[in-house]
Amino acid sequence: MTEKLFEKDSMLKNCTATVISCTPKDNGYLVVLDRTIIFPEGGGQLSDEGFINDARVSYAADVDEEVVHYVDKPLLVGSQVKVTLDWSVRLDHMQQHCGEHILSYAFWKECGANNIGFHMNNDVVTIDLDKELTEEDMLKAETFANAELWADKPVHVDYMMDVEAFKLPMRKKNEKLHGNLRIVSIKDGDICTCCGTHPTSTGMIGMIKILRFEKHKGGVRVEFNCGLRALRDMQLRTKTLLETSNMLSVKVEEVPAAVTKLKEEILELISKVKAKTMEIFLLQLPQIMDKAPLAVNGCKVVMVAQECDAKEAKALMQLLSAQPKVIIGIVYRSGNRVNYQFGLGEGAQGDCKAYCLAANEIFAGKGGGSAIFAQGGGIYTSDWQEKAEKLKTIILG
Ligand SMILES: [Zn+2]
Repeated sequence: MTEKLFEKDSMLKNCTATVISCTPKDNGYLVVLDRTIIFPEGGGQLSDEGFINDARVSYAADVDEEVVHYVDKPLLVGSQVKVTLDWSVRLDHMQQHCGEHILSYAFWKECGANNIGFHMNNDVVTIDLDKELTEEDMLKAETFANAELWADKPVHVDYMMDVEAFKLPMRKKNEKLHGNLRIVSIKDGDICTCCGTHPTSTGMIGMIKILRFEKHKGGVRVEFNCGLRALRDMQLRTKTLLETSNMLSVKVEEVPAAVTKLKEEILELISKVKAKTMEIFLLQLPQIMDKAPLAVNGCKVVMVAQECDAKEAKALMQLLSAQPKVIIGIVYRSGNRVNYQFGLGEGAQGDCKAYCLAANEIFAGKGGGSAIFAQGGGIYTSDWQEKAEKLKTIILG
């Protein structure tokens, strides 16, 4: 059994140890020592990193009470080695992990919500709560949690028997746990059972910042950051917001209103462009009809292939359907899709369903309908307008 020095003192940055075993594994080695300061992944906390002599430890796992270190160089069994912790990694993990204790406590205390899930990786930390909460709740819990940091409260680790431990006002009582339990308590604050590493006082966490929350399985999922991660995140967000406010030539707090106005202006311009496009089409219509080739059955064939939306395509179809003896094909691109519609003008003969099947083939799409109207959609390719021309040839017969 490895002596886990990190359980008693989370501030140890190096120690000496004896190599118990060293086994080749994949491109590296699995090393067991008689004692270590490297925390193995577990209990929601990520693995520490560091060095054993000059062998880099990239990961550690707890296997039957032994800490197995994944290293890149072999170590001599029986030799004395120096274990060095990558403190920046440990501090980051402790900040996120202990920050999670405190934020969960804040939600429990201030909003009556229980933490029912926790996830942490190198980018994101989330907690799942069993109750739907509001933005106001988020602000309340976040402020409460940060006040716990400003008070720089000591964080204690104690060992006690289950019976004694369960008498404590714990946030989360796991009745499945038995025997001698490891209790992590923050003075006049959160108390819970935990095997992880924690800072000696809450001030070391620095900052707890909620980034977003969303509904999740009847409750909410809260994404947050602590310590250096929170600072870096705020630096990036501040920079982005400042750049945006400069681009829009407004104050930071006026950015949302300015973007809303911009969106409205764009929508207005789009609708003006659409109206103009339709006007131009109307002006060109007599010419289009004059130049339209004749199908074998004597009907004119008009094929329109342009970028537009479904509403515009419908308007075009209506306009063309009012023309006499015309077979209409409208092919329009919408993002990475190509859609198509086929219809008949007054007194025209044709089989729109058959034209649609031909289009399905050409555009690798799906669709159908009747002899008088059919529609479908397929995949966009850069030569989609040439494909529409090919379709026209097929309709001409
Ligand atoms: Zn913990």
